Amino acid sequence: MTIRQASRTGQPTRGVLEKLSTSLLMMTACGALISIVMVGLCVLVLYQSRQDARDRARDALRDLALIAERDIERNLELYDLSLQAVVDGLQDRDVMALTPRLRRELLFDRAASARFLGAFLVLDESGNVVLDSASDLPRSRNLGDKPWFVIHRVRPEVGLYMSDPYYSRLRGDTPSIALSRRISHPDGSFAGVVMLSVNLEYFHHLFAGLSLGAHGSLSLIGRDGVMVMRQPYDAKIPGRSIQGASTFRHFMAAAEGSFSDTASIDGVDRLYWFRNFPHLPLIIMAAAGEQDIYATWRRRALTIGSLMGLLGSAFIGLSAMLGIQLRQRALAEGELQRLAVTDSLTGLANRHRLGEVLDEEWRRAKCLRRVLSLLFVDIDRFKSYNDLYGHPAGDDVLVHVARCITNGIRRPADTAARYGGEEFVVVLPDTSAAGAAEIAERIRSAIYACGIEHEGSEYGCVTASIGMVSWDPGMNGELNAAIRAADEALYDAKAAGRNRVSAAATSAL
Ligand code: GH3
Ligand code: MG
Ligand code: MG
Repeated sequence: MTIRQASRTGQPTRGVLEKLSTSLLMMTACGALISIVMVGLCVLVLYQSRQDARDRARDALRDLALIAERDIERNLELYDLSLQAVVDGLQDRDVMALTPRLRRELLFDRAASARFLGAFLVLDESGNVVLDSASDLPRSRNLGDKPWFVIHRVRPEVGLYMSDPYYSRLRGDTPSIALSRRISHPDGSFAGVVMLSVNLEYFHHLFAGLSLGAHGSLSLIGRDGVMVMRQPYDAKIPGRSIQGASTFRHFMAAAEGSFSDTASIDGVDRLYWFRNFPHLPLIIMAAAGEQDIYATWRRRALTIGSLMGLLGSAFIGLSAMLGIQLRQRALAEGELQRLAVTDSLTGLANRHRLGEVLDEEWRRAKCLRRVLSLLFVDIDRFKSYNDLYGHPAGDDVLVHVARCITNGIRRPADTAARYGGEEFVVVLPDTSAAGAAEIAERIRSAIYACGIEHEGSEYGCVTASIGMVSWDPGMNGELNAAIRAADEALYDAKAAGRNRVSAAATSAL
């Protein structure tokens, strides 16, 4: 059966199939779209929580750095006060008139015995040690070549000076920094330097007490780029310059801030928070390993992401399955509809469908004032064919004849139906008598041309006779009259010798 007839008998056409495929596609696309929106929202939430983790880490780093900074500033301020007390004391004649022991006790107070302090010395303008917190009789030493001594001599305005880390040979190579202040004569000229060495163990001890995480670090850096202390501690780090490191550029650009970078010291990716000390030439820098910051987030993202991926895929799968089910159901319904209106042997419209088509086309023809033609096709000597060749062979002939009829009609509106037995009706809307005669002749000759052997026929093969009627708007009459007229025309064709087309006289309507 061709697509043209299929539309007449209720079978889903190519258009219907296309619509079904489109709706299946739409359903899958909707499912995919909803899944994409769900996954998109999930990604957004996860991204947000990643940012939150970063913000929290940055806040924690700032707090950590602030704690360290305040402790260092307070202690160095106390040390500076001790230095200033010595400078003031040296200007006081009464103090200088005291015995060496009393003078030492008064000048150096008890600061010299503090836990992380080393040498506390007073040097004259030539760099000779003249007072030592550790002894009433200072060893004769000259430290005039030390950078901190030279600085005070050439730059009177320096105030408190903090040296880079150095290793003190006097105290078993412990790393220290020197804090120093200039001593001036009453006329402002250089009178020497008072210096206090601070053991770096102080910073080490302070940093070790702060919790940094597995890959965290905390560094104290001189503004000239020289490392003072770093946690995790490495003896090689104090005194090392990081001026060339990419991190150092950030310190120069702002008073405080945060950035992500790979540490030049150990190659670990970290989030940094740094701050320049407001009153000292120092920079504190706290850092957390990126892998520590996002560890919890990563675990959560992996779980949620996998679940969302699964849910999204399941949703798309379910949508597709639902679409397929709906499509199969629509196809099944279409097939049922088709079967309800189709003749099972020939595949043409059945008599029930023919009744519907006839009513519909008759009304349409009357309403639109169009011509309607009907053909009554009846196989000649079919009883005898069955008798000669058997009923199954007769069925095959019916199928052949149905195919000839189907091939004979061209327009989508034309309908071929099995009326009953070996009789067929062709409904030709909007077709004139001449057009109908042409189609009838095409069908008749096609059946004849099949050349199906029939010994009981005067033509030696299977033939058919066709009665034809055309109703046009100028005529009166009803549908039944038209059918009757076609039937009578068929009778005329039979009477005239079969294998021919006979048109009903217009007076028959
Ligand atoms: P005529 O040329 O006058 O039309 O003679 P005819 O034998 O074709 O007409 P008649 O009405 O006498 O016989 C119709 C026969 O069609 C009767 C029956 O055996 C056969 N027939 C009806 N329906 C079927 C069918 O479904 N299958 C087969 N094989 N034969 C059928
Ligand atoms: Mg008959
Ligand atoms: Mg017949």
